[in-house]
Amino acid sequence: MQNTVQEIISFSGLGVHSAVFAQVSILPAAVDAGIIFMHKNFLTEPIVVGAVVPLDAMHATVLRQKSWTLSTVEHLVAALRMAGVDNAVVMVEGGYEIPILDGSAAPFFHAICRAGLVNQGMRKKFLMPRQAISFDERGGKKIYLKPLEDDTLSGSLFCDYEAVFNHYALGSKKMTGLIDQQLFKQKIAPARTFGFLEQLPFLRSHQLAMASSLGNTLVFNADEAINDHRIVDEWLSHKVLDFIGDLGLLPHPFTGYVEAAQTGHAFNRRIVEHYLTHPESWIVV
Ligand SMILES: [Zn+2]
Repeated sequence: MQNTVQEIISFSGLGVHSAVFAQVSILPAAVDAGIIFMHKNFLTEPIVVGAVVPLDAMHATVLRQKSWTLSTVEHLVAALRMAGVDNAVVMVEGGYEIPILDGSAAPFFHAICRAGLVNQGMRKKFLMPRQAISFDERGGKKIYLKPLEDDTLSGSLFCDYEAVFNHYALGSKKMTGLIDQQLFKQKIAPARTFGFLEQLPFLRSHQLAMASSLGNTLVFNADEAINDHRIVDEWLSHKVLDFIGDLGLLPHPFTGYVEAAQTGHAFNRRIVEHYLTHPESWIVV
């Protein structure tokens, strides 16, 4: 069944890239409303998740409306999807970037779970590809989406994710299996943003990562992480988190099999682009 949030859930903090303060409230929404982002300064221009292709941005997932853009939505979208929220209005006030909080999806996910959901009495909708869809790009980037063959698995997301970094402490790692709420809670939601110390001057010179810190980012120097990991292979888990957030920008939660390697926000956006340009290749189940 479709769910919305039981009560208003509020967050505030700095955007990791802009370092601008924003307040965010997650409000209940009607059946079939979907997830809708709104900004207090542009109330007549909602951003409906699934109706827009994210911008071609590398360091965060950015959604655009006519008069405004909203940055770094991915961790919140992953939390909403994995908590089982189908319908909600996310009202933003102040800045135009979702607060980074601790760099992970855990504060969003736990607050939504604490607030609880309301069963809206209408069947939940999922989106599944009708046949295999694949995307490739130079550098080994790959996304392969496949429908479920077994109706009893409907609603499930199976993921085979590979992250590869040419770095002594990272290398190549895989996460494989069913992505359910329990796995998300324990192994994916707590994973913080990660970055490389040597890239920080470049990012800052482009007004990016302006509020990144050792509190919200797992930072690697040339050899190792300079702060403590929160979970094993936190960086791999964060890649999966970002992927789930970007996959969550389809109009309904994705169900099916995913094989993905070396993905990033600028590549993941092709999934939503494919849905919007080839809706006949997708089925609502
Ligand atoms: Zn992220």
